[in-house]
Amino acid sequence: MKEYEEIRHSLIDMLEDLDDKLAKITHDVKEPLDKDFEEQATQAENDEVLDGLGNAARTEIEMVKQALDRLDKGQYGLCQVCGQPISKERLKAIPYSSMCIKCASQAGC
Ligand SMILES: [Zn+2]
Repeated sequence: MKEYEEIRHSLIDMLEDLDDKLAKITHDVKEPLDKDFEEQATQAENDEVLDGLGNAARTEIEMVKQALDRLDKGQYGLCQVCGQPISKERLKAIPYSSMCIKCASQAGC
C-alpha cells in the first residue's frame, strides 16, 4: 500500500536521524574530563543531561523499530492495547505511536 510505504520511509528517516543523534550524544559523553575541578563539575552535569538525552533517544529508537515491525506484520496503526485503529491525526503527529489516544491517556503518556 502506497500510504504505508510513505510511513515506512518516514520511520526509516526518523531512525537514521535518531541513530545520528545518539552517536553524537554518546561520543560527547566519552570526552575526557577537564583537569580543572570547576570544569569537571560542569562536565559531570552535562554528562547527566547527555545521559538523559541518550536514554530518550534510545527509547525513541525502540519505538520506531517496533512501529516498523508492526508495519511488516500488517498491524501498523492499530492500538496495541484495545486493537482499535489509531486516528490518522495521531499517527501523523507521532508516526510510531502504539496506542490509540484513549489508551494512551489512560496509560498516562
Ligand atoms: Zn486503545
